[in-house]
Order: sequence, then C-alpha cells, then structure tokens
Amino acid sequence: LDRALCRPCIFCEIVNGNVPNKLIYKDDEIAAFEDINPAAEAHILIVPVAHIRNIKSLNSEHTSLLEKMRLKGVDLLQDRGYEPQSSKLGFHVPPFNTVDHLHLHVLGGEMKSKYRK
Ligand code: 5GP
Ligand code: ZN
Repeated sequence: LDRALCRPCIFCEIVNGNVPNKLIYKDDEIAAFEDINPAAEAHILIVPVAHIRNIKSLNSEHTSLLEKMRLKGVDLLQDRGYEPQSSKLGFHVPPFNTVDHLHLHVLGGEMKSKYRK
C-alpha cells in the first residue's frame, strides 16, 4: 500500500509490463530481463515477481524460489550459447546494492572492461 503512495519500484514496473520490450521471461513466480548497463556480454537479471527487498528478507521458505531463479539463469545463458561452468551468478549484498527488489545477476561471456580487475 505505501509503495502506491511513494515512487514505484522500477523492477516491479518491469515485471508488471509497464516498461515496453523488457521482459525475456515471466511466470507466476519469477521474471527475467536484460540489465540496462551490462557488466558482461550477457547480463540478465532474474527477479521474483513478488517485491522481496533483498537477500536479508529471505528465509528457508524461499529455497525453491531461489533454486528456480538459479536454474532459469543457467537456462537462459545456455539458450544463448554460454556454458554453465563459465557463467557467473550472484547477488549483491546490502548495502552494496542499488535496487531494493531482489535480483540475481546472471553474467555470460566476456566481462566489460570497466568491470575487469
Ligand atoms: P545491484 O543493485 O545488484 O547493485 O544492481 C542493480 C542492477 O540493476 C545494475 O546492474 C543496474 O544496471 C540495473 N538496473 C538499474 N536500473 C535499471 C532499469 O531501470 N532497468 C534495467 N533493465 N536494469 C536496471
Ligand atoms: Zn519491486
């Protein structure tokens, strides 16, 4: 309710189809879309449809949701020809995240030079 009165969550907007041509995948529980500022050749974000804030909001009831997110990430990269062994999947831990809607980063191929160590 309070989010209706405040600025809407950008990832909720994408998941709900209010941003055109963004979604790669969606079902009842999860959605996937391209990161706007890719850190690698392939950079997909997998999010729960529900507005879960971050990894600190997770408990054991979310185990199957997380596994589903991971499998979808691997799946989408494989569709694009990236091997699971070379793929990178991970969450940013608060306070080192910028968007407060849980999202799994799914990276494939060459990292962009600005992110390379
Ligand atoms: P984090 O919060 O884990 O540090 O990263 C947030 C990620 O979301 C960043 O990689 C950023 O590029 C991406 N991002 C931020 N705003 C938008 C947006 O409006 N659309 C899309 N597709 N990605 C976004
Ligand atoms: Zn949200």
